[in-house]
Amino acid sequence: MLGQLDDLESFMFGSKRANLAVVAPILVHIQSGRCFYCQEKSRGAVEVDHFIPWSRYPRDTAHNFVVAHPKCNNDKREMLAAKTHLEHWLDQIGRHGDEIGGQLSLKGFVSDPRCSKLIAKWAYQQAVAINGQAWLGIDNVVPLGQECLELFYGA
Ligand SMILES: [Zn+2]
Repeated sequence: MLGQLDDLESFMFGSKRANLAVVAPILVHIQSGRCFYCQEKSRGAVEVDHFIPWSRYPRDTAHNFVVAHPKCNNDKREMLAAKTHLEHWLDQIGRHGDEIGGQLSLKGFVSDPRCSKLIAKWAYQQAVAINGQAWLGIDNVVPLGQECLELFYGA
């Protein structure tokens, strides 16, 4: 029974915690081998991060993935990323959204950049409304300001 429910949920919402290993090489290429957050070249292993954290939106959607150093990813954890990262993410979708969507939909991921941006907007609105904080870098957490939401105008 649980198995069937699980199948149903997978069918309706996409796979839960899918195998993200197939995502990494595609994004490493798009990000020119750099960590999404600190911009340094990633030597060794990279991790696929959910830009809008899984804890806030537990679905795998193509445009919500970025690759990052394990140390950056693990420090960010369940936080939203700071404005500069949000800007970069929207820019990455603007430049490479078609490629990300095309490649990852071939791997079975839901691809809808507009929907991914709406989810991000919703998540940032929630966080701004409660004067939340955002992750800027290792051990660097900053207040999340209203100006983050302006990035979604026209997005
Ligand atoms: Zn990094």
